[in-house]
Amino acid sequence: MSNVITTKCAIIGSGPAGYTAAIYASRANLAPILVDGPQPGGQLTTTSEVENFPGYPKGIDGNQLMADLRDQALRFGTVILSDRVTDTDLSVRPYKLTLASGKTMIADTVIIATGASARYLGLQDEERLRGMGVSACAVCDGFFYRGRRVAVVGGGDTACEEALYLAGLAQKVYMIVRKDHLRASNVMQQRVSENPKIEILFNTNTTGLIGEDFVQGAHLVENVGTEHESRFDIEIDGFFLAIGHQPNSAPFAKFIKTDKAGYIITKGISTATNVAGVYAAGDVADPRFQQAVNAAAAGCRAALEAERFIFDNGSTLPPAL
Ligand code: NDP
Repeated sequence: MSNVITTKCAIIGSGPAGYTAAIYASRANLAPILVDGPQPGGQLTTTSEVENFPGYPKGIDGNQLMADLRDQALRFGTVILSDRVTDTDLSVRPYKLTLASGKTMIADTVIIATGASARYLGLQDEERLRGMGVSACAVCDGFFYRGRRVAVVGGGDTACEEALYLAGLAQKVYMIVRKDHLRASNVMQQRVSENPKIEILFNTNTTGLIGEDFVQGAHLVENVGTEHESRFDIEIDGFFLAIGHQPNSAPFAKFIKTDKAGYIITKGISTATNVAGVYAAGDVADPRFQQAVNAAAAGCRAALEAERFIFDNGSTLPPAL
């Protein structure tokens, strides 16, 4: 393949949004090229089993689901590049994307589906036990902890939502909150404090996890660095991070409007960004729901909008490069 690649539709990202956009764009004869990014398959490849994606009554392994979506995109002719976008010029059509390999993509339309990465505390144990009791998605993995003991790290709205969701399944939910108060909205704080299964550990940080093959507990420290500092362990089977997500919008941020947290701003149900012919789908544009099925639906909408855009505006690609 030449160092300059042209396409009517560049799709950046290989999670449910990216692959669904690819399925629709390739079936619409846009001959899309998808750049699969630093984590091919996206966040679902870090989950063990997915039980809430429609169409799989017995659940499906996250890696298998993403492999199936990839195969479906390939079946209709999507070209998949194992590469990463490092820079963009979205000032004028056709748009230019620079890839880590040194290749350049010239595209009539761009679908940004780069997702968001859950923030982790940075503990070695988190890495070691990821998918083995460590999770950043209660809705995805909570079901496996029915009747068990779990902890949620964080004190924002997401942490409260996750704790409440888990309290519906688990026997006991600890919230590990580093400050002496929750950051969450009043209504969420109230719901959490009224739930008898939830115990909030304020002024508490996690220093490590216990367990060889699966989480069995956590090492905690309360009032760290003060005269009241105390260290203790809790017994848990699941350790859920809810300390925020980082949307992967940086390579596009010079041209594409984002909110303060970096989520790409789209217009209502449309996936259109502030740049004509550039669309954003999935978690990179969704601070709220962040579910695979939503991302897939947005990927579908983005491809349909890209197709419509080319139909209305024609192609600006040079005849041959
Ligand atoms: P937030 O940034 O609001 O909260 C993050 C939480 O994680 C804070 O309590 C923060 O602590 C804590 N935290 C961050 N880093 C660490 C760390 N290294 N160690 C321990 N704790 C840490 O993120 P959310 O994901 O909760 O929410 C994002 C946005 O989405 C918010 O605007 C929220 O209101 C919104 N949202 C709305 C919902 C709804 O309306 N139903 C549901 C979910 C989210 P500290 O407070 O000390 O900084």
